[in-house]
Amino acid sequence: MSKKRSNDEFIILVLSGSIALGILPFIIIRFLQNEWIMVLLNSSAFAGLSTIFAYVYFTGRTAIARWVIAFLAVVVMTFTIYLKGYQNILWVFPALTTLFFALTPLLALIIAIVFLSGITVILWPELDSVSTLQFFTATGSTTLFCFAFAYRMRQQQDELTIQATQDALTGVGNRRALEEKLIELIESIKRYPNLSSSVLLIDLDEFKSINDRFGHSFGDQVLKKFTQTIADRIRVTDKLYRYGGEEFVVVAENTSQEEAITLAESLRRAIEEVELKSECSLTASFGVAQYALDENQWHWLERADTALYKAKASGRNTTCAASDAPF
Ligand code: GH3
Ligand code: MG
Ligand code: MG
Repeated sequence: MSKKRSNDEFIILVLSGSIALGILPFIIIRFLQNEWIMVLLNSSAFAGLSTIFAYVYFTGRTAIARWVIAFLAVVVMTFTIYLKGYQNILWVFPALTTLFFALTPLLALIIAIVFLSGITVILWPELDSVSTLQFFTATGSTTLFCFAFAYRMRQQQDELTIQATQDALTGVGNRRALEEKLIELIESIKRYPNLSSSVLLIDLDEFKSINDRFGHSFGDQVLKKFTQTIADRIRVTDKLYRYGGEEFVVVAENTSQEEAITLAESLRRAIEEVELKSECSLTASFGVAQYALDENQWHWLERADTALYKAKASGRNTTCAASDAPF
């Protein structure tokens, strides 16, 4: 069965795979030329890169792989220049670009400067004034372009991530972020079943009438004020998400159903106290559910929704808990 690989995995697989294949002919050439140190150097790089390729291919983990690739690029190229001199200067360029693919832009820039300084020291006796100028202009501009490009790409990636996971009106996580959080949390509960967690599903009461009486944009301000009120009162480990419309979810980690009910009640009272227009009051209903082993994120939310429905049916501005949670 084929699985979709992340961008990180894809980049590391392409980098390690293509550089390993690129090195392969040189191992044979150096072998035929009886250049044993170069054979050893290139073979080590080939073995390292092939191991990285297999490791990322089978585990999907890239954190260590990035560092190993950056390390190999810098060390193997520095040794190659040390052994072969200026005639191998071309290899500095793929090594530089590799750094910017493998590491964060600022880190890559710092290592690139250290790497180029080392190469300069090694090549200094060979360089005349024109080749010095060529070397600095070519490596300097390549480093600068790579840095500028990598920096912009990272900024755009961060912006896209925010757009894809944040609610535009209130700034809290959206439904997609909620789903990711619950999946991640369920995985950790499976590993540590003693640490259960709870969700609080919150629905603003009679919100349609606030919109009808005071206008949609006032309704938007109320939603913002509501999220601020909740965000100010939950722990840093608790996270607030907009589930849709005027429904929100607090994911409370390491929180039993009883503790979650206490939290819901304190939030419910805080919402009652929110000051809006004089003739406008705000209340919310809460449905609370502790995670039940082996259920998925949708079933978990469904049980909180059933509890919320009970809270609405029993007159609103109240908290109800899922009755089928295990204790
Ligand atoms: P209940 O107590 O049963 O929950 O009543 P309700 O009026 O809150 O529920 P209903 O589902 O009938 O109405 C929800 C309203 O929330 C209708 C919709 O216009 C409003 N709403 C949803 N999203 C937004 C938004 O982004 N901004 C504003 N201003 N209103 C929104
Ligand atoms: Mg609703
Ligand atoms: Mg409502």
